[in-house]
Amino acid sequence: MRVSSSWRWQLSRAMRLALRWCWLCRTQRGGQGGGTKAGIGGRLSEVWRYSKLLLKSLYFNSLTNSDTLLDCAFEPVYWIVDNVTHWFGVVFVCLVVLLTSSVVVIVYLFVLPMIVSTYPAHWIVWHLCCGHWLLIMLVFHYYKATTTSPGHPPKDKSPFPFVSICKKCITPKPPRTHHCSICNVCVLKMDHHCPWLNNCVGHFNHRYFFSFCVYMTMGCIYCSISSRNLFLDAYDAVEHKIQTLDTTNCPSCPPQTYYQTPPPDYSFRETTAHKSIIFLWVLTSSVAVALGGLTLWHAMLISRGETSIERHINRKEARRLKEKGKVFRNPYHRGKMNNLKLLFGVQKRSHWLTRVLLPSSHLPCGDGIVWDCTFARRDPMAI
Ligand SMILES: [Zn+2]
Ligand SMILES: [Zn+2]
Repeated sequence: MRVSSSWRWQLSRAMRLALRWCWLCRTQRGGQGGGTKAGIGGRLSEVWRYSKLLLKSLYFNSLTNSDTLLDCAFEPVYWIVDNVTHWFGVVFVCLVVLLTSSVVVIVYLFVLPMIVSTYPAHWIVWHLCCGHWLLIMLVFHYYKATTTSPGHPPKDKSPFPFVSICKKCITPKPPRTHHCSICNVCVLKMDHHCPWLNNCVGHFNHRYFFSFCVYMTMGCIYCSISSRNLFLDAYDAVEHKIQTLDTTNCPSCPPQTYYQTPPPDYSFRETTAHKSIIFLWVLTSSVAVALGGLTLWHAMLISRGETSIERHINRKEARRLKEKGKVFRNPYHRGKMNNLKLLFGVQKRSHWLTRVLLPSSHLPCGDGIVWDCTFARRDPMAI
């Protein structure tokens, strides 16, 4: 298996077979004389058969199957996708920073002045505290999620428990570790590769990723609710202006004839404000819906003690065991609330405030290499 994978050995084998093929052609030419049509046909078919055998012997491997061949055929496509995703990651991160900054600027320029000038004092305080808390939390968690390494298996020779060998890195893989083809490295408790972070989500930054999703969704909901009235006013103003322009441009309509109150003449600043608020509301509402769905999905996975990759593996395993009349049990599931506490690192009640509701850089429980399986000691995975 090791020898067949060596290209030098493959080359020498090909040369040996080519020499044998030439020798066979020569002996056949000398032996039979090549006089009749049947003789030529038979010789050609033999050469054809031998050439096919030669070709097959070049890529023959006792472990080759259709999956391996498909993988080899799609290797260039995978390479392009991996590289494009890697480079697009930088663009996506810039996009997140740009869009978030634009939303913050619009809120400071138009939404907050409206709140300060029209709302009672206690509502102003609430908006200032809530808005800034959400902003700090989402900026902190996004920064930490993008810059924190998800964790990789140790490279030194120290022994550690492993379940398989990574075919790409040729290193042992601890439980829950998977190879990321975009980062080209094995990742501890890998969840997925996130292009919006341009980073893998794994053992050491899973909490930052999930908290970022939660606070970003909350921030978008907050912005879209706070700017709802402004959005309706801005939308009416823009729509009214478009209708007026249509009427003015219509040749059959008498110019400057209004059946209702004439539209106010908006300044450049007001027009910009209207467009900005419409942009803010549409963007935050769309992100709130899309990211809210994704956050709920990840919350469900975390409460089950699964990563996104394990979700697929466990479903397949559950189906396989069901056919055998057995029930699959996730060895990393410790109960819904305990799974959430484990992710957030909540060990006592005060940690809900200091580690979940406030920015915290504490490390997750465990090293991501050794896992204490719930059913490992008494029960096997299937019962
Ligand atoms: Zn690997
Ligand atoms: Zn990755």
